[in-house]
Amino acid sequence: MNKRVPLLINGQFVDSKSAQTLPVINPATQGVLAEVPFATPDEVEQAIQGAAEAFKTWRNVPVPERARLMLRYQALLKEHHDELAEILAEDNGKTFEDAKGDVWRGIEVVEHACNVPSLLMGETVENVANGVDTYSNVQSLGVCVGITPFNFPAMIPLWMFPLAVACGNTFVLKPSEQVPLTAVRLLELFKEAGCPDGVVQMVHGGKDQVDQLLTSPVTKAISFVGSVPVGEHIYRTGTHHLKRVQCFAGAKNHMVVMPDADKNTVVNNLVGASVGAAGQRCMAISVAVFVGDSINWVDELKEKLAKVQPGYWNDASAGYGPLVSKAATDRVKAYIAKGIEEGATCLLDGRDCTVEGYPDGNWVGPTIFTDVTTDMTIYKEEIFGPVLVCMHAKTLGEAIELINACPFGNGTSIFTKSGAAARRYQHEIEVGQVGINIPIPVPLPFFSFTGWKASFMGDLHAYGKQAVRFYTETKTITARWPVDEAAGDQPNMTIAL
Ligand code: NAD
Repeated sequence: MNKRVPLLINGQFVDSKSAQTLPVINPATQGVLAEVPFATPDEVEQAIQGAAEAFKTWRNVPVPERARLMLRYQALLKEHHDELAEILAEDNGKTFEDAKGDVWRGIEVVEHACNVPSLLMGETVENVANGVDTYSNVQSLGVCVGITPFNFPAMIPLWMFPLAVACGNTFVLKPSEQVPLTAVRLLELFKEAGCPDGVVQMVHGGKDQVDQLLTSPVTKAISFVGSVPVGEHIYRTGTHHLKRVQCFAGAKNHMVVMPDADKNTVVNNLVGASVGAAGQRCMAISVAVFVGDSINWVDELKEKLAKVQPGYWNDASAGYGPLVSKAATDRVKAYIAKGIEEGATCLLDGRDCTVEGYPDGNWVGPTIFTDVTTDMTIYKEEIFGPVLVCMHAKTLGEAIELINACPFGNGTSIFTKSGAAARRYQHEIEVGQVGINIPIPVPLPFFSFTGWKASFMGDLHAYGKQAVRFYTETKTITARWPVDEAAGDQPNMTIAL
């Protein structure tokens, strides 16, 4: 019998009583790694109530002690870095190098959480009226919830629970049912670092379990990362139940290539940014907009892309891994077929890709389209595969207009040698994260991850100062203490202005 993925309830890794399970599958071999049980309503409720109970004491743990927990956790994550990368490479499929990056970007958020005493500082104005001071304290919220996608099994859970917990909250994590194994190890290590029982809980499942977390009167804040339709459902349901909600959703990221850019740099960066991680990154470049004569570089790009071969996670020569599931593979291949049917030119078609030794893998080779128009499905929708769409613009202004008309706004980049072009681009572009000669501009955790438009629903973004505000309440205190003139206190003064 396959191993069952445990829940984490009140500090104990336990087997669910549920008979509803899904296999966790290695996407390169179709081998079953484990069975993930969908938690019963009772189990989800136990997780929520346990987190609420733990909050009563956790909120009072001194802030430096919470920071020390994060320091211990950071050290353990570093110690187990490669082991975590191996776990996630097995069920997600990404290459070992990429998997190590996934873990490392998560560790960086934990490092940011070590800084929590400074992040929780309030504000003070003395003497706002005679003898009156006003100051604000930053306090924890209560039970927070995280719902995470398949494509970053380590980084995205680590975007959420360490900062929420460092801010004095307790947390219920619902990891992706496709890749739940990394989250188990992340939480085992958190327990080993000294996280008290009940402070973080974990349940598995899909819509039913998520809906229970969204509608519970106990949960206070919901962090979600995943696709647009699910994000919209979560945002609507969560806010309808008067919760604080942040949803990071799908994307269609454009790279603008100016004719003055260095051709080799552009081509090399586009290859990695478009098909790296099989295009399964929310910040992947899926549209290249060539301005002016730079469109002539497409042939060279095609040649470079044709040399990239996917492969098994531990094959150091593999450019990327398989798609996460058969369903994802069918979806990406259907988009390629649709692009051809709608009249785009497919310069490189990855649908017949095979990898020696892995006949059952979810392989799709690098794919590149030209002659694409904005009404085509392959332009309008997120493909989430190793497919690059190439467009042409006569001027930078035309490129900006094209990108600003796109409903998504997660990330974008421009490659140019012109400071003026770069400055105009960063100012005028309606996208939340901009790279200048950087293809995938994911900010480090002392900034925030600031997607815009359809790529984000909510107000406060992930990590950085914004996440600290998301996971806390501000309490503003106005205080007057009686003056004792007999004891020599100065009387209050006013001036007539
Ligand atoms: P998904 O939306 O299918 O699933 C995400 C989570 O939602 C999972 O935990 C899943 O169990 C849960 N879920 C699925 N259906 C649900 C429903 N009907 N109701 C409630 N919960 C449900 O996303 P995915 O396929 O795992 O991840 C890929 C998507 O995530 C892509 O669209 C990608 O762009 C996006 N993504 C966005 C960011 C970002 O920062 N903007 C980062 C990573 C991934």
